[in-house]
Amino acid sequence: MTYLPANSRYDGMKYNRTGRSGLLLPAVSLGLWHNFGGTDRLENGRAMVRRAFDLGITHFDLANNYGPPAGSAEETFGQLLKQDLAAYRDELIISTKAGYYMWKGPYGEWGSRKYLVASLDQSLKRMGLEYVDIFYHHRPDPNTPLEETMAALDHIVRQGKALYVGLSNYSAEQTAEASLILQRLGTPCLIHQPSYSMFNRWIEDGLQDVLDTEGIGSIVFSPLAGGLLTNRYLNGIPQDSRAAGPSVFLQSDQITEGKLEKIKLLNAHAAERGQTLAQMALAWVLRGGRVTSALIGASRVEQIDDNVAALSTLDFSSDELAHIESILKD
Ligand code: NDP
Repeated sequence: MTYLPANSRYDGMKYNRTGRSGLLLPAVSLGLWHNFGGTDRLENGRAMVRRAFDLGITHFDLANNYGPPAGSAEETFGQLLKQDLAAYRDELIISTKAGYYMWKGPYGEWGSRKYLVASLDQSLKRMGLEYVDIFYHHRPDPNTPLEETMAALDHIVRQGKALYVGLSNYSAEQTAEASLILQRLGTPCLIHQPSYSMFNRWIEDGLQDVLDTEGIGSIVFSPLAGGLLTNRYLNGIPQDSRAAGPSVFLQSDQITEGKLEKIKLLNAHAAERGQTLAQMALAWVLRGGRVTSALIGASRVEQIDDNVAALSTLDFSSDELAHIESILKD
């Protein structure tokens, strides 16, 4: 059936400025790492992308290697774009990345100009796009001079194949250095994409300060710790959950008794706030306005509804934050 986006799509979403740029991003963005591959149900992916856009999620995040198989999430998104969203391209922020292994031989991963330019060309073909809004270097490359990688990002913007560039998984020091090079080149770093959640707080130790100083925004991935910070695992490991599947990023042995204890206490606190745990976990990463967008994943439409509804209760009292700290410590 022909898709017509909801007229109300901009009524409930909150849009945050990305660092010191002109670009606003939705407080909740959708990533297509899992559940949009060639082995997943296209109709489920379509329903999720439609619902996301109906709720004001204007930003969809991809990477060359998302699938499986690698590349297939971009192909899926290309199909959905063509069939449903082609008329709304100017309402969308689409990102992709290169950095991880993509093809055989010496030019299929890391950070050379050769790899980045070729990979983005492949991504554009798979998605049927002329340009992406944000192109990321997906992980730092210890063997390529940072100048070469940053010059490749600048080149890609000058070619018109990306509007902005970003960094992902770079440390505080690497980000400061890369930002300086990009500024000199005239293509400032728009955004950093690090992992961040109540269970994973490395960005508080230096990276956030660099981002503030440099005027770089942040979009944090896995804010729900892959589903741990939700009601998903409260009563065991459901058959259709990520932890029961082949994902190496969340395996059942990570759901220890100690972790589950914390999850249950956090869940109880979320209930006191009148929220689900997923909603509280998202509000928590957005607290204080330092994070531009929480980059969620989803396996079904209802999760997107649940997550976007987090935006109606974003505030925490200092007592609440202290209580959460006491649950998270040790
Ligand atoms: P999340 O932490 O948001 O985990 C998403 C998973 O949590 C879902 O697949 C689902 O699990 C579960 N979930 C989501 N919402 C709910 C809910 N309301 N109630 C119950 N369960 C819920 O993020 P991801 O780890 O998926 O990462 C998000 C995005 O971040 C990726 O798609 C990608 O775009 C980006 N990313 C970037 C990386 C990088 O290196 N730059 C690395 C990793 C991710 P289930 O499937 O079990 O239902």
